[in-house]
Amino acid sequence: MESSSLWMEGHQPRFEAASQPQTFDVAIVGGGITGLTAGYFLKQSGKKVCVIEKGQIGGGETGHTSAHLAYPIDLRPTELSRTFGKDGLRLTLEAGVTAIDAIETIVMDLGIDCGFQRVPGFLHASLKEARDETAALKADFELVKELGFPVRFLPQGPVEGKPAVAFADNAIFHPLRYLTGLARAIDRDGSRVFENSEVTEFQEDPIRLKVNGVEIQAGSVVIGTHVPLMGNTGLVSATLFQTKLYPYSSYVVGARIPKGRFAAGLYWDTSDPYYYLRVHSNVDHDYAIFGGEDHKTGQVDDTEACFQRLEAMFRRLVPGAEIDRRWSGQVVETNDGLPFIGETAKNQFVGTGYSGNGLTFGTIAGIMAKDVALGQSNPWQKIFSPSRKKVLGGAWDFLTENMEVPYHFITGWLTQGKEKSVRSVKAGEGKVLTLDGEKVACHRDEEGTLYRCSAVCTHMGCIVRFNSAEKTWDCPCHGSRFLPTGEVIGGPAETPLKTVGRKPTRRRTASNSGS
Ligand SMILES: Cc1cc2nc3c(=O)[nH]c(=O)nc-3n(C[C@H](O)[C@H](O)[C@H](O)COP(=O)(O)OP(=O)(O)OC[C@H]3O[C@@H](n4cnc5c(N)ncnc54)[C@H](O)[C@@H]3O)c2cc1C
Repeated sequence: MESSSLWMEGHQPRFEAASQPQTFDVAIVGGGITGLTAGYFLKQSGKKVCVIEKGQIGGGETGHTSAHLAYPIDLRPTELSRTFGKDGLRLTLEAGVTAIDAIETIVMDLGIDCGFQRVPGFLHASLKEARDETAALKADFELVKELGFPVRFLPQGPVEGKPAVAFADNAIFHPLRYLTGLARAIDRDGSRVFENSEVTEFQEDPIRLKVNGVEIQAGSVVIGTHVPLMGNTGLVSATLFQTKLYPYSSYVVGARIPKGRFAAGLYWDTSDPYYYLRVHSNVDHDYAIFGGEDHKTGQVDDTEACFQRLEAMFRRLVPGAEIDRRWSGQVVETNDGLPFIGETAKNQFVGTGYSGNGLTFGTIAGIMAKDVALGQSNPWQKIFSPSRKKVLGGAWDFLTENMEVPYHFITGWLTQGKEKSVRSVKAGEGKVLTLDGEKVACHRDEEGTLYRCSAVCTHMGCIVRFNSAEKTWDCPCHGSRFLPTGEVIGGPAETPLKTVGRKPTRRRTASNSGS
């Protein structure tokens, strides 16, 4: 029986250790999904970054995950809605959807061979208890459906015929192949990924990190170490850790299972702690990863018994399963069930407290780290804020946005601005280009004059789109509109788009060559 995770098999990325003093725009501590996603997006937006990993990239919890890419989170929809309201539920589900879409886009853009595949996810009645959960699961279903997500209620679901809520469009992938692809995309053009490089000291003003005895200086720092650094580094205050974060151990077994026993997909039950199953297909067999038996880290003496109970439950579910490996790892829970993602001090950004949803929350953290570094707002900054507080008896005040905003927000950043030359903008056209790392809204009028301004809407930081009928730049998030020269023609934005580069320039074309 192997006692290492499925993902670590054959995982041998090679990046140099930090060995000389250097300066970067952003230093990112931790080479898991949080750190590498942050590194990728920050580099994409023109920053010179370094990702500093004390061991091998992916060697932390990302290498020990069960690799469900699910947009529903550990908190049941009804529970989440009770605490954070329907808007909180919607924003949280949107975060998951956005993260999975972002991963899919990156996989395609970089051509990463990591088996990314869209699969359904099923929340089903408890494997442990025989009570009828139809009404409670229906309540979850109704709530999520009302918010417009693709769900179905199954009176008899795929797991032991128990009632289930089926969520469409989740995904599976090989997390470490994905991370390796991200790291390779980061480690060039002046940005670096360092392995075998532990951050042992931290100083502010300016930010300096002691790594392998040398000093790395940076304008800002992103802490993607899963459990935030404290101690000598002093990066995150002990108070946050002691009062709001709780590490739990979780156990996993892996097994070949008969083909077709379960369709490729994600399955998790309503037990507390819950059981989770992930199935993917190989040519001649299917492979299942089954996990659960979570407990507060350090609070159970007989951890072997946790594996034994897990195996017994799995064999009940899939008689004939050939269990060939097992591993365990840590998830970090928070006092209210949502992660802490955001700035804990000026120029210090942290992502932690993801519970069992760290692949999606880690991805969102990477996106949010980029937004903070660029001084842009984003849809989740209040709900995931490390300093969020609920007013006693009152409502959470994180939200005024409408449903599509997170979607437009991220798709704009991911999909717009692929081209890099103003020559591609023809007379009468408008295109978002990436020029010197910046998203630039470029419009060429019929006379050949080129207008350039920032494509980042000054209201909430979404990427504007060209309205070819009106020859305006329109924001898909909240509807602000701008002239090609950047002036506001319709709010909610009040500030013009920033002018970029030179004054409008005229190109000699057949139609204007005589002027
Ligand atoms: C058994 C199990 C199953 C899970 N299943 C799922 C799932 O199905 N879906 C899901 O979404 N999530 C799941 N999770 C959670 C998810 O895997 C994690 O939340 C996520 O991988 C955390 O990513 P991260 O980048 O924040 O941290 P990590 O991957 O832990 O990366 C942090 C890195 O920081 C490095 N580091 C720490 N200190 C320093 C330092 N001083 N200097 C330099 N580097 C440092 C570490 O070496 C590590 O590589 C699961 C977790 C476990 C344990």
